[in-house]
Amino acid sequence: MGGTGGAGGALEGKSPYELRLDQSAGLAELDVRQALATGDVGFLHSFTTGSAVDGPGIRLVAWTTSCMFRCRFCHNPDTWTLANGMAVPLDVAVDELRKYAEGLKVMKGGFTLSGGEPLMQTRFAVRLLQAAKALGVHTAIETNGFYSERLSDQELGDIDLVILDMKGFSPSQHKRVTGVEDNSRVLQFGRRLADMKHKMWLRYVLVPGLTDVPEEMARLAEYAASLGIVERVEILPFHQMGRYKWERLGLEYALGETQPPTAIAVAEAVGIFRAAGLEAW
Ligand code: SF4
Repeated sequence: MGGTGGAGGALEGKSPYELRLDQSAGLAELDVRQALATGDVGFLHSFTTGSAVDGPGIRLVAWTTSCMFRCRFCHNPDTWTLANGMAVPLDVAVDELRKYAEGLKVMKGGFTLSGGEPLMQTRFAVRLLQAAKALGVHTAIETNGFYSERLSDQELGDIDLVILDMKGFSPSQHKRVTGVEDNSRVLQFGRRLADMKHKMWLRYVLVPGLTDVPEEMARLAEYAASLGIVERVEILPFHQMGRYKWERLGLEYALGETQPPTAIAVAEAVGIFRAAGLEAW
């Protein structure tokens, strides 16, 4: 594989809202396939530091590229395409982790692998998370759960926290939000985590006119409560910080006129999850 640069750009980013394109364009298909099969190389939008919202404490976050969903509210559509990520050898990514490991431990934070969808690059994801663990750093993966069966029980057990992004409970709503109807794998993943008594946070993006459907949230809340492992539910208010990416990528953006939810709407959504007995905010 050819280095860490691709079409250029620094490994560390200011935020995932930086538009990054074609960072590994030109890599041979065989190289890409080999990278995915071995995890020797990952494709990353960037590393960002200092996040206080992607797991407990202060987090170092690696943002992977590639995703199988096409969420209408996606804030980072540049991460949909593998080639928009920088090709980063595993040892370079581990060096980045090592730089921050002691600080993260002192701040009771950790490392979070997010995306895009990290399990599109399962081998790299597993190896990077295991490397973080070996450095004594708390690990979290933020995932939509669709490819979770790619993780063995042991690999899953080695990850301290799963942050599961859920988009809808019924297949029809899931299709409306993500373009993919079959969410049985996502729901099954939650049940598998429950069987393993694995810690989980649930995230739900509240989008007026799209995901603010009370019945959907109530069914999701009932499901989440039944698992008995959901430590917290985070309702994330939709915002327009990713809008310019859709425009720059020439993608049709259905939410151009959508406003962030009101404080009342957020409180109502939180209330639905709390009513099911969950910690939510
Ligand atoms: S799962 Fe995440 S990265 Fe993928 S389309 Fe949805 S919001 Fe975007």
